[in-house]
Amino acid sequence: MRRPLVAANWKMHGGPDAAAKFVEVMVARFGDDPSREVVVCPPFTALPAAAMIASGSAIAVGGQNCHWEDKGAFTGEVAASMLVELGLRWVIVGHSERRQYFGETDATAAGRARAAQRAGLSVIYCLGETLEKREAGETLAVLERQSAVLAGLDAGGLAVAYEPVWAIGTGRTATAAQAEEAHAFLRGRIGGLLGTDAAAALRILYGGSVKADNAAELLGQEDVDGALVGGASLDAETFSAIIRCAPGFTARRE
Ligand code: PEP
Repeated sequence: MRRPLVAANWKMHGGPDAAAKFVEVMVARFGDDPSREVVVCPPFTALPAAAMIASGSAIAVGGQNCHWEDKGAFTGEVAASMLVELGLRWVIVGHSERRQYFGETDATAAGRARAAQRAGLSVIYCLGETLEKREAGETLAVLERQSAVLAGLDAGGLAVAYEPVWAIGTGRTATAAQAEEAHAFLRGRIGGLLGTDAAAALRILYGGSVKADNAAELLGQEDVDGALVGGASLDAETFSAIIRCAPGFTARRE
């Protein structure tokens, strides 16, 4: 049984105060429930405040990126060990916005993921096809290519986020059937790369315009083990509603 994982990607929104207040709500609502894993990924400047509030609870705080080297002359970058020093447990790697705007490739994303795991962080590794590729019928070929780098990672500290680029921040969500097809394909593919036991245990998250009103159907799919949520995670009520859609959730304190 895979424990659902629901992660908030705040992108470039929110400072320390907003993140601390948000995490406070998450801790109060979900901080003592082991049935679900909740990860909050605010911008770098908000990480210390968020990590301090989350400390000692089941709520995890994660970064949105880290560098592939452990240290060095890389102005503007952050090493995975620096995130660990703040008490973080997760980092998002290979997000499509990094690929689109900052030249991220499969190779650089894989390097970041390896560095994160070396430092002891778990990785949410993002991949997904563009609209052009989907319309050309090349979705599974793209996923096959992008997922090849997962062979170099430790399955124990890994979750994969299937995020069709055309669904991110657009309000256009993949149908449950489209998501399940991609997730089932990825699980089979990862089975070939990392072994079938590892693939059976690996959480594959869906990301792309997840909202409170479509989360239940998406999270109800057999191979959808959680969600990576962008815009809808900025509001604590909406994000809480999405978390509650993860099957089997039981809130103890609200
Ligand atoms: C994301 O940033 O990973 C994402 C899925 O964004 P949104 O939920 O806004 O589409």
